[in-house]
Amino acid sequence: METEALTAWIREFARLIALNKDDLTELDSAIGDGDHGANMDRGLKAVVAVLDAEPQETPSALFKKVGMTLISKVGGASGPLYGTAFLRMAAAAGDDVDLAKVLRAALDGVVARGKAEPGDKTMLDALSPAVDVLETGGSVQAAADAAAKGRDATIPLVARKGRASYLGERSVGHADPGATSVTLLLVAAATTLGDDG
Ligand code: ADP
Ligand code: MG
Repeated sequence: METEALTAWIREFARLIALNKDDLTELDSAIGDGDHGANMDRGLKAVVAVLDAEPQETPSALFKKVGMTLISKVGGASGPLYGTAFLRMAAAAGDDVDLAKVLRAALDGVVARGKAEPGDKTMLDALSPAVDVLETGGSVQAAADAAAKGRDATIPLVARKGRASYLGERSVGHADPGATSVTLLLVAAATTLGDDG
């Protein structure tokens, strides 16, 4: 998988975040403080600006640049979590990126940083099933479908991590914003990386 294709993935993620910004904000208004859409959009717009100014030469440099930019621009819980995810992807990326391998590294980074488990109603609930699909040889589209299913499965859950956990039972009935944005990352991968993954 080449740097150019991976850059297209990140750009498509940025486009989908901008498109779904209000949706993410609404979800985070229901169970958090309503800033997830704005946080992510600010971060990804900064990422696109950086990539426009300085196209990256290797997958590892690309992921590192994305991670550093997200950490400095996103804030909240999701900034450090997404930032860590991309920095771990940078460390796991060789010359020929294996999507299952880099996303497993991202997942491990999110777990190390946030100490959440599947079922806690976080971004892990979308990321984890997607990584499982890729590791068992499924297509990127199948991974995106698994992420969407994981996102939907967060609706009846009680949040046990982050700001939403303060709501207790009142967090039931809404999808987790982070699981929703992670699903967009996988959907972007499916359209840009296809079955090369
Ligand atoms: P904040 O909660 O600080 O306002 P955001 O609204 O940007 O930050 O992000 C909220 C999202 O972050 C949640 O929907 C959830 O998916 C994710 N999140 C929060 N805490 C954790 C954690 N400990 N581990 C994994 N994901 C988390
Ligand atoms: Mg928030």
